[in-house]
Amino acid sequence: MKTYAYGFPRLGKQRELKKLVEGYWGGKVTESELLQGIESLEETRKKTYCRYVSSFPRSEMTLYDHMLDAAILHGIYKVENLDDYFQLCRGKNALEMTKWFNTNYHYLVPDFEGRVPDFSLSPLPWDKYKSGEENVYIIAPFTFLKLSKGLRREYFREALKELTSLIVEFIREKGFKSVHLDDPALVMELTDDEWSAVEKAYSIFADVDAKINLFTYYDSIDRLELLFNLPLSGIGVDLIHDRGENYSQLKKLKTDKTVFLGVVDGRNIWRCDVFRAANLVKEFSEDFNVVVTNAAPLFHLPVNLEGATLPEKLLRKVAFAEEKLNEISLIAEVVGGYNDTAKEWTKDLNVSFGFDEDVKSRVKNLTEEDLNRKVSYSERKKIQQEILKLPLFPTTTIGSFPQTEEIRRIRLLHRKGKLDKESYKTFIRGEIAKAIQIQEDLGLDVLVHGEFERTDMVEFFAEKLEGIATTGNGWVISYGTRCYRPPIIYGDVKRTKAMTVEEVAFAQSLTDKPVKGMLTGPVTIIAWSYVREDVPTSEVAYQIALAIKDEIKDYEKAGIKIVQIDEPAIREKAPIKKRHWNEYFDWAIKSFRLCCSSAKPETQIHTHMCYSEFGEIMEYIVKMDFDVISIEASRSKGDILEAFEKVNFDRQIGLGVWDIHSPYVPSVEEMREIVERALRVIPKENFWINPDCGLKTRRWEEVIPALRNLVKLAMDLRREKTV
Ligand code: GLN
Ligand code: ZN
Repeated sequence: MKTYAYGFPRLGKQRELKKLVEGYWGGKVTESELLQGIESLEETRKKTYCRYVSSFPRSEMTLYDHMLDAAILHGIYKVENLDDYFQLCRGKNALEMTKWFNTNYHYLVPDFEGRVPDFSLSPLPWDKYKSGEENVYIIAPFTFLKLSKGLRREYFREALKELTSLIVEFIREKGFKSVHLDDPALVMELTDDEWSAVEKAYSIFADVDAKINLFTYYDSIDRLELLFNLPLSGIGVDLIHDRGENYSQLKKLKTDKTVFLGVVDGRNIWRCDVFRAANLVKEFSEDFNVVVTNAAPLFHLPVNLEGATLPEKLLRKVAFAEEKLNEISLIAEVVGGYNDTAKEWTKDLNVSFGFDEDVKSRVKNLTEEDLNRKVSYSERKKIQQEILKLPLFPTTTIGSFPQTEEIRRIRLLHRKGKLDKESYKTFIRGEIAKAIQIQEDLGLDVLVHGEFERTDMVEFFAEKLEGIATTGNGWVISYGTRCYRPPIIYGDVKRTKAMTVEEVAFAQSLTDKPVKGMLTGPVTIIAWSYVREDVPTSEVAYQIALAIKDEIKDYEKAGIKIVQIDEPAIREKAPIKKRHWNEYFDWAIKSFRLCCSSAKPETQIHTHMCYSEFGEIMEYIVKMDFDVISIEASRSKGDILEAFEKVNFDRQIGLGVWDIHSPYVPSVEEMREIVERALRVIPKENFWINPDCGLKTRRWEEVIPALRNLVKLAMDLRREKTV
């Protein structure tokens, strides 16, 4: 039985990639140290693959993002050296960043800016593709074009043909023996035109000597048969996230091509039922040539379980990337007739724990009533304004302030038990007090406490809630060098006491300006965690919503007048195929409404989403019944306006005027441009001025001048636009 795996995390167990690249940015790592470090990371990755599977792709490594690398290879961006390369990742000229399918990985979006594409093979600033390689990872032309922007629709067909020819030329020139063609965009809902463009363009793969295996994942392929008629050696399909649709199409298929059966989940950490998977593999082995592989790249998982701080019971139920490789090999073993290791591995598969009858029955007894605020938005608006008395163009930030070296150091000391609770608390209070003072000095209208006590907006709540475990060292890349540790939701989620009130109430005690309470919403907690699969995800969402609802009650008791429920992941979590959207948004919206249903009318509920292509989700968003929403807008200027032109959006909105993902400090004029454009479609009475996301990754040296400009802009606007 042949085995294969792809997408093993590039980060490194000790987050070496992050340290190398950030070290290089900071001048502490030289170019040759960086490249050597990367080389050795790649060696380690190869060795890991080799221990478990028969084959895997080369050149998966990137210094920042694989879509960016492809854009450079295709000649869309001319890059002469590493500094040019990193300019495209961060700073003033950085490319727009967006979520990679429905995952929390962000890629850099190649932009054709409406031009006729003019592809030419161009080198990367390091030796990424070695001539004569065995099996090389290449982003497929279709996925590349589908995920890029600014390509006029009338060029698509032609561009796809040209890009495919370019890839063929590349394969020949480099003498690759086989190719791993990564084509996940084929799982999207495609038009007939797109399918026929793929069919036409990919037909030229018939002219290459190298074996080409095309991989799809994250969902089913709507026209699987079409792919099997292309001149390819093999096709990779996802049998985990396909709702059974790939399975039923495969059952009808006769083919002499190799089928890479994705039977080990690359997106969730639960151990695989290797016996079930082996049966599936055996079933298909009768019809065609089968290879066992993962479903979805493994970079959504931490490297391995070594050193993970999980309860023993849970440890026996989970597998990270390396353990998933092992599962692939176990499946092959079982198919080959050897069962013992697999039996041992799956012993605790069906042992569940962490039940809470109380929470379960609260969810069971929920009614329509529990999803509605008692007073309409227009009424609430009046009541809230009477209390808050905010000026036109109110200013605020999204929640977090810089997490300095010192804060991280002190927090780590505390976590390691080297700093007692009281001293830690005093330190955090000191930071909150400084942040409040800074915000008052700057003249912001709605203040925040700064989130200094939180490592991460999901992990923090995971640590406070029952039924969720944190891993300690299970790092995963979110974008570039930015990492996070997804928690594991394994049982019923329950709040046992207030989670955030103390810090926010303390901040409020220092100022007369309103301080926003900061919460993370159910969808985001779910999206950025690994979620149990023994109950529907909607149930998990309602359990979390109940915890948040109780927290808001506690805020109100403590005199907090504004609460923000962050749902940055709401768009990302939506299924790839729109035909599944209603089902998803139904529970996503209900969970949000459940959070705020018992908030008093005078409590102003904000939400924040890190997303700007609002057009497609607008109809759902308006049902969430918040009072104010803040969204990203600064990188993809203008696109958002179309969305607002179409609907009658009556809520208040803060469009991000400062792209906080880069260290660049925007001027008053640059920010004004965004506002002026937005004011064409959004009434000024509803407009808030804020950065596009939290400031925790920024430094105070950037934050203070940028916020100073932001407040200045608001003041100017107030003067100019008040008649
Ligand atoms: N309140 C969070 C913060 O400011 C929101 C972050 C996010 O949207 N990702 O950090
Ligand atoms: Zn955000």
